[in-house]
Amino acid sequence: MKQFKAESKRLLDLMINSIYTNKEIFLRELISNASDAIDKLYYRSLTDKDVKINKKDLCIKLELDKENRLLKISDTGIGMNKDELENNLGMIAKSGSLKFKEENEAKKDVNIIGQFGVGFYSSFMVAESVEVVSKSYKEEKAYKWTSKGAEGYNITECEKDDYGTTITLKIKEDSDEYNYSDFLDSYNIESLVKKYSDYVRYPIKMNVTRRELKKGSDSEYEDVLKEETLNSMIPLWKKDKKKIKEEEYNSFYQSKFYDYQDPLKVIHTSVEGMTSYKSLLFIPAHAPYDYYSKEYEKGLALYSNGVLIMDKCSDLLPDYFGFVKGVVDSDDLSLNISREILQQDRQLKLIASNIEKKIKSELEGMLKNERDKYEKFYKEFGMQLKFGIYNDYGMHKDELKDLILFYSSNDKKLVTLKEYVSNMKEKEDTIYYACGETIDKVDMLPQVEKVKDKGYNILYLTEYVDEFVIKTLIEYEGKKFINVCENNLDLDTEEEKEELNKINEENKDMFSLMKETLNNEVSLVRFTHRLKNHPVCLVSEGPVSIEMQKVFNAMPTDENINAKIILEVNESHPIAEKLKALYNEDKEKFNEYTKILYSQARLIEGLSIDNPTEISNLICDLLSK
Ligand code: ADP
Repeated sequence: MKQFKAESKRLLDLMINSIYTNKEIFLRELISNASDAIDKLYYRSLTDKDVKINKKDLCIKLELDKENRLLKISDTGIGMNKDELENNLGMIAKSGSLKFKEENEAKKDVNIIGQFGVGFYSSFMVAESVEVVSKSYKEEKAYKWTSKGAEGYNITECEKDDYGTTITLKIKEDSDEYNYSDFLDSYNIESLVKKYSDYVRYPIKMNVTRRELKKGSDSEYEDVLKEETLNSMIPLWKKDKKKIKEEEYNSFYQSKFYDYQDPLKVIHTSVEGMTSYKSLLFIPAHAPYDYYSKEYEKGLALYSNGVLIMDKCSDLLPDYFGFVKGVVDSDDLSLNISREILQQDRQLKLIASNIEKKIKSELEGMLKNERDKYEKFYKEFGMQLKFGIYNDYGMHKDELKDLILFYSSNDKKLVTLKEYVSNMKEKEDTIYYACGETIDKVDMLPQVEKVKDKGYNILYLTEYVDEFVIKTLIEYEGKKFINVCENNLDLDTEEEKEELNKINEENKDMFSLMKETLNNEVSLVRFTHRLKNHPVCLVSEGPVSIEMQKVFNAMPTDENINAKIILEVNESHPIAEKLKALYNEDKEKFNEYTKILYSQARLIEGLSIDNPTEISNLICDLLSK
């Protein structure tokens, strides 16, 4: 007996001991594998002259044997040879999702399994042993793969007339928790096929007993066993929109894209004209666990007249709409097309550009008419839209700028830039913003207080990309963005400015000493009108703000990019007088105060301090006096 690869074994263990209530999805998985296998063979027959098939033979068969507790699923697909059985069923490649599955299964989050294409191994949720007999379309020999679960598997040569695969499950005995015999009941199997696999393009056939009028009688009935096709086979996207129920969309989405939640939005379109296609797109209600990682692959399933050409055609979606799932079916595309040619295909480009416009207008519509829904969407994918603005040197900023939201200090909720600007008073030409880790933290920034007091609305930026987005936008409808923690914030009247300049000039020497005491870590120390109650703050000068410095320095490069910072002291705070007095009377104490004030300003900004012990001792000294 051969051992499973370590990862596969773990997944198997998970499946065998699964507490997952939705065990029935194993059938969907096996049927979908069968359908894929037929797709592959069919596709080959269209592109390779040597592969000849009879279209009528393409089907999936289900068989039930109640007595022996067997459920068989056969297909006339591409089949697997010995190596393929070994490689495809003996190990799993997607270790990332396995890890995730394990971690979350441990948390007893029963929905997790449904999030993934759990695939073939899901059969072990309902079967005590599994047998796979397969013959590859290219080979004479057939092979049998058998396994009772985690211990391992065997592969032996066997007999099989036609190419394709037959999977036989020995269904588990019923237990207190679960009635496994349901999977031997033909009515139940029939309804599971309707529920999960109705759109499968090949007939799913099974012998079913139907009550029919006895021949020659008009009142007597009898049970007749006959083979029937259980699925309607029409792909959902080809059906008339008006005749599709919401549940149908939802169940199609869940089973095709392995989500356990309904989509937030369904976009079903049929386009005729320069290029003709049907598309069925979904905006998920939540970001997949790997969405913001390198593993995530965007793309739409691409069909040509109902035949799957590519599972994830990434050219159909711009990166910033990479969260959209769905299928596109166009008769205008050649089947023989290769990936490379596809990229240059004019039809495909047209479709992609139409799809992008459609997604954008749907999002705009949602923002306008279903605000709650949009905010839900934004919570999951807003970051992606922001990346979209910032990436490619801002090439797409105009397309996306009206789709982003920021928290507003006046409205105490998320607003669009348009909303911010439309609430501005006449003559105002600045959009104020402040950055920090959370709304609460930003709200407590000393620099924010005064600006709010003066009646200005401030956008609170709490995501690390936010300020980069603002810097990319530069302005919105002619209004420039200003960080309230920036050097060039300008709220004073001419007289106030003049007065401030005067006292700064008067205290020039004191400030140079402060700067010196701080080893020139700041480029300047000065009095400010920016603060209301707080004694000190830091402001930045030049293109890099303090928040941006944090982002840069969190990146794994050696380069240190630092903001140019100014230490500002509140001119109307008692500390100002105290400093002046100490400067004249007690230089040593003056230096200590300077250090403490600077550390406070750094802490408020969320910056670390180099000498925490020294500062702590200084404060303690003061406290104990
Ligand atoms: P997935 O379908 O997500 O790749 P599975 O574990 O369900 O994962 O299947 C692993 C692989 O085994 C498939 O990718 C396919 O190559 C092969 N396979 C599974 N079922 C069949 C089948 N009925 N016919 C041919 N190949 C199959």
